[in-house]
Amino acid sequence: MSVKVRFAPSPTGKLHVGGARTALFNYYFAKHHGGVFCLRIEDTDQQRSTKENEEDILESLKWLGLNWTEELVYQSKRFDRYKEVVAEMLVSGNAYKCYCTTDELTAMREEMQKKGEKPKYDRRCREKTESSALPYVIRFKAPIEGEVVVKDAIAGDVTFNLRELDDFIIARSDGTPTYQLSVVVDDIDMGITHVIRGDDHLNNTPKQILLYQALKKELPVFAHLPMILGADKAKLSKRHGAVSTTVYRELGFLPESMRSYMIKLGWGHGDQELFTDEDLTKLFDLDGCRQSASVFDVKKLEWVNSQFMLTRPLDELVSLVKSVEGSDLSSLMTSPVKQNLLKGLVERSATLIDLAKNTKTFLSEDYDFDEATAAKVFKDYPKELLRSFGEKLESLTDPTPEAIHDLLAKVVEESGLGFGKVAKPLRVLVTGGLQSPDLSLVLAALGPKAVKNRIFKATDRF
Ligand code: GLU
Repeated sequence: MSVKVRFAPSPTGKLHVGGARTALFNYYFAKHHGGVFCLRIEDTDQQRSTKENEEDILESLKWLGLNWTEELVYQSKRFDRYKEVVAEMLVSGNAYKCYCTTDELTAMREEMQKKGEKPKYDRRCREKTESSALPYVIRFKAPIEGEVVVKDAIAGDVTFNLRELDDFIIARSDGTPTYQLSVVVDDIDMGITHVIRGDDHLNNTPKQILLYQALKKELPVFAHLPMILGADKAKLSKRHGAVSTTVYRELGFLPESMRSYMIKLGWGHGDQELFTDEDLTKLFDLDGCRQSASVFDVKKLEWVNSQFMLTRPLDELVSLVKSVEGSDLSSLMTSPVKQNLLKGLVERSATLIDLAKNTKTFLSEDYDFDEATAAKVFKDYPKELLRSFGEKLESLTDPTPEAIHDLLAKVVEESGLGFGKVAKPLRVLVTGGLQSPDLSLVLAALGPKAVKNRIFKATDRF
C-alpha cells in the first residue's frame, strides 16, 4: 500500500499535546508502511497565525523526532491555486455566488430558530442567474437529499444526513478560501492517501467528501482519533496545565518518553507499556487504534520517562540536564564510584529536573537539610559515634564502598546500637535527607574527607 500522510497544524497556537499526538500517529503510520509524512502549515487565517507559533510547532516536532519529508507546504502561498479551483467549481455548476448580507443571514437564522429549526443557510441565492456588483461569498452547491457515509478507519461508518448540511461557504467575500476548501484542494494536490486527525474534525468530513465528489477525485481513507481528556475527564485544555509540548521538554521529559506515552493515547499493542522507535515502526497501524477517549496522566508519563532515562548513557543525561536545567553534573562522571552513584540517582529520578534536584547534594557543600526529617532523626542520636566514624573513615587506605560498608558495620556492632540508629542520622548528615542510593556508595563517592567535614559541620549545628 502506498501511503502519504500529512500533519496540518494551524499556527494560531503552540503545539499542544493533542496536535503532537496527531502528528505522532501520522508519522508512525507512514513509517510503518514505508510511506511519506508531510507537514502543511494551515496559515490561511492571517490574523491569528503567527511566526512564533509556527516556530514552536516546528521546534516541537523536531524535538519529538517527527521529521517530515518533502518541502513544507504553506497554505498562505497557495491562494492562487484555491482561487483557480473555486473558479472551476463556479463554471462546472458546483458552486454559486451568494450576495446575502450579514443582516439578511442573521434575520434568516432568527426566523428558523423561531420555528424551532436548526439554523442554516436557506439556499436563496442558489438558483440566481443574474450577477451583481455587490460583494459576495461563494457557496458549495451541496446535494439536498441523501446521506454521506464517512467510512472511518477507527470509528467505523458514520452516517450524515444531507438535510443537516447546508450550502457551506468555500470562498469568503475577500476571495480567501475557507478551511473546507483549502484542506481538500491540498490533500488532493499533495496526493494524501490517509487523513488521520482529531475527531473534532469528524463533522467536517462529510463536507469534504462532498467536495472530493464534486471535484471527481478519489477519497482518501479517513481516521479520526478519539479525544484526550484531563484527569477530571474534561477535554484536555490549557486548564490542565502544561498542554504545550515544549513545556514537557522544559519539565525534563525525554522525546522518546513522550512518543512512547502519547502513542498509547488512542492506540495499544497488547499489554506492552513502553515503545521504542523501532517497536513503533514495526507495530503501529490503524487497526490498533481505539475508539474511546483516553486520559492524559502526568504520573504515568513520569513513570514512562523514568524507564527511558535508564536506557540513556550517563554522559547523555549529563549533557541533557545541562541544557534543560543548567546544572553541571560532570563531576559525577570522574570515577567509577561516582558514576555508580549517578546511576543510583538516575534510578530515583522521574525527570531530568528531578535528576538535577537529586544530584544537588553531591555537587556542592551548600546542601539543604530536610528540616522536618532532621528534627526527627537528630533527637538523641549518637553524635560522638558518628564523629568517630568520620575520623576512622578518613584513615581508611582504600575507601571503596565495600571497605566503607565493613567499617560502618563494625562501628555499629561495637556501639551495640541498631544499624538504623546509626545509618539514618548519618545519611541525613551527609545528604540532607533520607532518600539516597546505597549509603556506602554515597560515602565513597563523596570521599572520606568531605564526609568527615559534613559530619562535623552538621553535628555542630544539630
Ligand atoms: N488545521 C487543522 C487543525 O489544526 C487540521 C486540519 C486537518 O487535519 O484536516 O485543526
